[in-house]
Amino acid sequence: MLSVTNTLTRAKEPLRPRTPGRVTMYTCGPTVYRYAHIGNLRTFLLADLLRRALEAGGAEVRQVQNITDVGHMVDEEFDRGEDRMLVSARLEDKSPAEIAEHYTAAFLADAAAFNLQPAAAYPRASDHIPQMLELVARLLERGNAYEVDGNLYFAVESFPGYGRLSGNTLERLRAGHRQEAPDPRKRHHADFALWKAAGPGRLVKWPSPWGEGYPGWHIECSAMSLATLGEHIDVHTGGEDNVFPHHEDEIAQSEAVVDHQVVTTWVHGRHLLTGDFKMSKSRGNFLSLRELTSQGHSPLAARLLFLQARYRSPLNFTWDALTGAERTLDRLRARMAGWARAPEAPQGPAPTGHERRFWAAVDDDLDTPTALAVLHDLEADESLAPAARFACVQAFDRVLGLDLAAQVGQTLPAGAEDLIAARTRARAARDFAAADRLRDQLATLGVEVTDTPSGPTWRLRSPGA
Ligand code: AMP
Ligand code: ZN
Repeated sequence: MLSVTNTLTRAKEPLRPRTPGRVTMYTCGPTVYRYAHIGNLRTFLLADLLRRALEAGGAEVRQVQNITDVGHMVDEEFDRGEDRMLVSARLEDKSPAEIAEHYTAAFLADAAAFNLQPAAAYPRASDHIPQMLELVARLLERGNAYEVDGNLYFAVESFPGYGRLSGNTLERLRAGHRQEAPDPRKRHHADFALWKAAGPGRLVKWPSPWGEGYPGWHIECSAMSLATLGEHIDVHTGGEDNVFPHHEDEIAQSEAVVDHQVVTTWVHGRHLLTGDFKMSKSRGNFLSLRELTSQGHSPLAARLLFLQARYRSPLNFTWDALTGAERTLDRLRARMAGWARAPEAPQGPAPTGHERRFWAAVDDDLDTPTALAVLHDLEADESLAPAARFACVQAFDRVLGLDLAAQVGQTLPAGAEDLIAARTRARAARDFAAADRLRDQLATLGVEVTDTPSGPTWRLRSPGA
């Protein structure tokens, strides 16, 4: 059974769904005002891995990932700045709807290229305004919210559990309350906006009982998660920066309305860094998948790179590490193609020990570095039968999602087989100059040869790659 680290309890726990065999999962989705950066993808990969691990264990997973197309402010921590969507619309001279449409399509394309399994639903915030208004009205009725000039705030002091997820309890927040000038409209400086009055000239707004306005980012996820998955959700994922205030506030809103715990397990991924800083648009140190591919890298090499670290360790991105992952991915695919081609004859023991260790690592809080080490052990163990190795790695790949069988069934161009055989003979005769010439000849045919302990394997290079 899969265990994960629950941010709420700060402990590693078995992920036991409320309904055995069926898991509901809410994944905090992208704000569609720009191309996703690969840091975002690292967090989405965590959700994908969780889901694949649960599915490999036989569970049926209903995953919902929201699309934030309104109300995410530039400075969310202090609940101020402009709406990110509107900033992009202005900068790109497009309507907010065009921005949302373009970057939603780009996100879905990136997700597919990164082998993220599609969610069962992608609710858009702008399609759930009535549900948000309904939640706000209920919070107001119950005394958890108050209105000031068309703005509605959540009163954190009305929710005793505030701070349980992040550790930012009201006492701590009070102690840490800095020189920041408090917003005079708020009763407590940690109160946060549920609904904001539309200022003059604001493009995207909706009518509400309190005048025209737009939702706060946190109420969006409460409304969409309750609307799509109901009042009990097994697991909710996000990046570490989502813990506070976003998820802390989501818990306060949802639980104040339904009067019980909604999400059982919260799983947060640590950040992807560049040069020791969080990869982010505001810092300008971000990379999109498009930028990686335009530099000749494949998206799945980045996926492998991320799998080499556990989700709850920070990871520093470097081009060297990406190049290394690319080489490993190429080699694994070539090995898989070689095992698939191997004649039936060479038999050997089945890799049952590898299998056991691999799944134990996955179930142990998604320990992908250990799982990959097992895969490399299997790759190095020449005593195993090729067909069994192939089948075993194909099963591993259901969780890894690296398309490791991508080169299976490819056929060599005419003449290449003879050149590979001649090169093998040249190497055996230690005529390395001839072997290198033959390698170059093969390269002009688009064939790349890799030497392994059990002989050469090859792969076809796509033109220009
Ligand atoms: P956004 O599109 O800004 O709403 O972010 C989408 C997701 O990416 C959120 O769950 C964030 O927690 C996550 N995220 C943002 N920056 C990083 C980063 N550098 N590394 C990992 N995850 C990140
Ligand atoms: Zn969210």
